[in-house]
Amino acid sequence: MLERYRFIKTMSKPLTLGKYSFGVGDRFAHQAKPQLQACLQAAAAGIDVIPVWNKSYREHAIVGSKPGSVRVAAEAAVSELQWTRPFHVDADHIRIDTVDSFIEASDFYTLDVADAIGRPADARDLQAFVDRYAELIARVNVPGIVEPFATTQSDIERIAGKYLSAVQEAGRLYRHIASLKGEDSFITEVSMDETDSPQTPAELLVILVAISDEGIPAQTIAPKFTGRFNKGVDYVGDIKQFEKEFNDDLAVIAYAIAKYDLPANLKLSIHSGSDKFSIYEPIRKALARTGAGIHVKTAGTNWLEELIGLAESGGPGLAMAKEIYGKAYDNIDDLCAPYATVIDIDRAGLPSKEEVQQWTAAQFTNALRHNPGCEAYNPNLRQLLHVGYKVAAKLGERYVNMLDACEPAIAKNVTENLYERHLQPLFIGR
Ligand SMILES: [Zn+2]
Repeated sequence: MLERYRFIKTMSKPLTLGKYSFGVGDRFAHQAKPQLQACLQAAAAGIDVIPVWNKSYREHAIVGSKPGSVRVAAEAAVSELQWTRPFHVDADHIRIDTVDSFIEASDFYTLDVADAIGRPADARDLQAFVDRYAELIARVNVPGIVEPFATTQSDIERIAGKYLSAVQEAGRLYRHIASLKGEDSFITEVSMDETDSPQTPAELLVILVAISDEGIPAQTIAPKFTGRFNKGVDYVGDIKQFEKEFNDDLAVIAYAIAKYDLPANLKLSIHSGSDKFSIYEPIRKALARTGAGIHVKTAGTNWLEELIGLAESGGPGLAMAKEIYGKAYDNIDDLCAPYATVIDIDRAGLPSKEEVQQWTAAQFTNALRHNPGCEAYNPNLRQLLHVGYKVAAKLGERYVNMLDACEPAIAKNVTENLYERHLQPLFIGR
């Protein structure tokens, strides 16, 4: 199939990400329209939320799709619903060895340099960096910070020693993309979320200074936050601690923009792993208080709404939803392996596939739908199905045809989930 892309060329002005943006992954490229419908609802409520269709190399590899398909689906939805605001296509979590297939279709690049964290930087580079930014060795007076921090020379050497190499890697990746696309034609995110330990506000400041030093016009930065961001389920951790760190990160970013010549719209990107409902309210309050923007990425939450829609449709749709659960149950080790650090499934809490075979549509959807107040809600089943999209991908045409057959129920669930459980609590409030 000939895929044609249209980019809005901005020769003089860099392509700029709006203040509020939301990453709507769409694994099977079927939900762009109901996803966009949720953004239209937000717009009608007075809040501009820019949709970003994100899909990682890992997801493309598992589904067997090509990056161009994301743009084709997004553009079809944009034209059908007459969306006149910007939208973007995010090459999510790309690295130097995986970026090239995303050059044509994406206008947003998430440079994943988490693997380079801790890799020793060249000793001369490190020394030169510490010398150039000697002002960091001080009690840094960041306005608005909850907990001021003082950094010594050895702190800065340690932090720069840990992150400089990763930022240099981001620089190489950024320049590679810029050489192929032109530097003002895409949005850059630097992501360090898929790593073991969270970054403190002091570390975030040093990282941002290094990003500025490297000449990367990052518009979003994805640190690793405190707590567990498991796939498909709510935040697990100390919400008060998260709130404090989040507020400090906002203060650090505002400070770094003013002092280190970073893009004025630089903002945090939260790789939510979907559905971090309990931190949405602290985030909303912080944004209201500071006027800061935010990017929140989700992906799998939409695929789970597809499953809910299939089940709700009953008959063959419900049968297929059960079939997918059964196969996911049988292949749990294989499905969980790529996501080992971001799921916590208690296998004893999973219903057997024989049991699920007997379920009604309501039993299936109540167990799966992310409604923590519902007694039948089962976070173990939800996490397993969250990583189980490979099973649906293997069903190929059968799955995709079933999506078409059950479209009304799926579309309703996709829109409702995005708007009522995500956009409204994050940007509008209850
Ligand atoms: Zn991520």
